[in-house]
Amino acid sequence: MIEMDCTCVQKHHSIPTEVIEVSDHAIGKVADILKDYRRIFMVADENTYAVAGKRVEELLKNAGILSHSLILPAPALPNAENVGKVLMEAGRDRPVYDINAWSLNPDYILAVGSGSLNDTCRMVSYRLGIPYGVVGTAPSMDGSCTTAPSPGTSSSTCP
Ligand SMILES: [Zn+2]
Repeated sequence: MIEMDCTCVQKHHSIPTEVIEVSDHAIGKVADILKDYRRIFMVADENTYAVAGKRVEELLKNAGILSHSLILPAPALPNAENVGKVLMEAGRDRPVYDINAWSLNPDYILAVGSGSLNDTCRMVSYRLGIPYGVVGTAPSMDGSCTTAPSPGTSSSTCP
């Protein structure tokens, strides 16, 4: 939880962000950062899987905390079709890598990508009521730490 006092009318702000890691070789810390989770569902697209997702998948698998992965065709737009795919796949009842991690739902969703995958996974996280995070693959990302998913192509948001 990140909290701060403010001079605006709300006086105080808080967001339920647990960790923000910005550093060289930060990807190597992903399993340690997520060590409190047991069934992580990783979502990438073909491009982000190639540049970071494959490595993240290996790290989570080696740590025994990967439930399963979904690799969407690229580019994965933040639309209803992809939200539906991620939502349906999140509930897949047979994790590929660890039968001991069997569960109807993951306990964490990890997007590997930038804005579109971040928004898609944030919406599914919101709908399922489970935490999520993102391994950012583009420096242009913003809004990563907000609590408001912004699916679709407009600027509308969901709290
Ligand atoms: Zn304020």
